[in-house]
Amino acid sequence: MLFFTHLLLGLALFLFTKDFLQGGNAIIIFGLVLLGSILPDIDSEESKIHRWSGIIGRIITFFSRHRGFFHAMFLYVFLAAAISYFFGAYYGLALLIGYFAHLMGDMLTLDGVAPLYPFSKRRISGPVRVGGILEAVVVVILLGLIVWKIIK
Ligand SMILES: [Zn+2]
Repeated sequence: MLFFTHLLLGLALFLFTKDFLQGGNAIIIFGLVLLGSILPDIDSEESKIHRWSGIIGRIITFFSRHRGFFHAMFLYVFLAAAISYFFGAYYGLALLIGYFAHLMGDMLTLDGVAPLYPFSKRRISGPVRVGGILEAVVVVILLGLIVWKIIK
C-alpha cells in the first residue's frame, strides 16, 4: 500500500474507534494512530517514514528486510505496552490501532505480510497490487467511509 492509502486507513480506523479511546489528549491520540499507520514501513528504503527517520531508518533496513520484523505485531505490542505503562493505556492503544490499520492494508496486497514473524513466516495476502487499480478502489472506499463517518 502507498503512503497515502496507509494514512487514509489510519484516519478511517481512528474515526471508527475514537469513541472507545476515552481519556488522554485527542490530538496526541490522533497523531499516534497516524504514526502507527505508517511506522512499519520504516523498514522500506522507498518509504517517507524511512527518509524522515534518518539514521534510525538506515540502521533498521541494515538489519531487517521489508515486511519482516518491523511489520510483525510483537514489536508494536511491546511498544504499546511501554507507552501504556508510562503515559496511559489510551496512548498505547492508539499506536496499536494505527499499526493494525497498516497491517490490514498490507494484508490486502499481493506480497502480504507475516504478522507472527519470526515465530511464523506464514503470510496473509490479498489481490491488491501496490499503486494499482485495486488500490485506487480501496482509496475510494476509504474516502467514502471517512466522509460518511464525519457527516453522520
Ligand atoms: Zn507496510
